[in-house]
Amino acid sequence: MTGLNGERSGVHRERNCVRVIDALRHHGRASRSDLSELTGLSRTTIGTLVTDLQTRGLVVEDADGERQPGRGRPPVFLRLDRSAGVAVGIDFDHDRVRVALADLSTTVLAEDCTEIDVDHSASDAIEAAVAMVEALRIAADVDQGQLVGAGVGLPGPIDRRTGTVGSAVILPGWAGLRARDTLAQRLGLRVEVDNDANLGALAEASFGAGRGLTDIIYVRLGSGLGAGLVIGGRLHHGATGLAGEIGHVQVRADGVVCRCGNRGCLETIAAEGAIRALLRPTRGHDVTRREILGLISAGDLGATRVVNDAGQAIGRVLADLCNAVNPEAVIVGGELSDAGEPLLGGIRDAIHRYALPGAAQVVKVMHGELGERAEVLGALALVTRSTEALRSITLEKLVKSGSAVAARSTAWRPVGRKEAMHAETT
Ligand SMILES: [Zn+2]
Repeated sequence: MTGLNGERSGVHRERNCVRVIDALRHHGRASRSDLSELTGLSRTTIGTLVTDLQTRGLVVEDADGERQPGRGRPPVFLRLDRSAGVAVGIDFDHDRVRVALADLSTTVLAEDCTEIDVDHSASDAIEAAVAMVEALRIAADVDQGQLVGAGVGLPGPIDRRTGTVGSAVILPGWAGLRARDTLAQRLGLRVEVDNDANLGALAEASFGAGRGLTDIIYVRLGSGLGAGLVIGGRLHHGATGLAGEIGHVQVRADGVVCRCGNRGCLETIAAEGAIRALLRPTRGHDVTRREILGLISAGDLGATRVVNDAGQAIGRVLADLCNAVNPEAVIVGGELSDAGEPLLGGIRDAIHRYALPGAAQVVKVMHGELGERAEVLGALALVTRSTEALRSITLEKLVKSGSAVAARSTAWRPVGRKEAMHAETT
């Protein structure tokens, strides 16, 4: 077919290719019948499009389809090849940086973690992260040109209007620094920055314990204490990025002075520093995070009690938040979440004691599934799930991989499910 009709059918085909790629980005790996369901395109159309995308090297078969007992041949799963693009995820915690590279289906290709004092020198932490990205890129045999963007997590509230840390008192070493612009310039990539608890929430909602849920509170308990809110299936940031800062809810008016300048914040009685301070007199030294977890798994009464009390204090604050937000689940992550039931039980008890019964009865208090990698996976998801930015990159890759038609399609836009039915002209 030639002329206008041929060109139109080519444009429809490219649009449908982008729909398949979008579905694989959002869903991770998927079978052909999953793709048919996700895009609204027929199985025959999906079969043709997938063969086309495989020929262009943008989609590959994933070998480990699991055989279901009595179900015969396992389905063949597909995922995006790294040639479709590679995302960078960087997670800055107070005392370490974790970096990962992943394909656009968020399959991690390479990952590394290093200890560094992030709080006090933003420039040292940024240089360390940039060096790690470069080392991982080389180790994973990824060209600089394949990198499509970076997602970055920081342990403080982020003002998304400016890409800066929104509170000078919570992360002093980063105050006034345009973190997003600085990282974008150093990495040569489009960068999106968010608060680390928000990224943990995004990751657990996308790939972890919150899969399929639309309203969750993710609590991150480690050296700091914060929460990320997913409301109606979307991350809730608030006007200046402060939503979910439960660590600075005042729970004791005459309590000790917090790093935010207030007194008696939740963080001063329930975060790692407070737990360590309570255990110091009986242990005779400053216990590490690993020791706290070891004491709890050995059944030490003092450590178990202290962590359960921390859980009760966190649950007391979460009870009010449950009344306000009415979530389906509270997902607990961060390094100290490995304390397990003493912590989770404390949170659960306080929510049941203080939240409205209608809110308390539906909320499940669960351990996160992604562990200490949740935040870096959320950072990757900032890239792989960002629809608008990746659409133009996807089209560019399609053009480079062998279609001249898409290059002439200047007015490409996403098509809805109904429209897709009419656009099936492969
Ligand atoms: Zn505070």
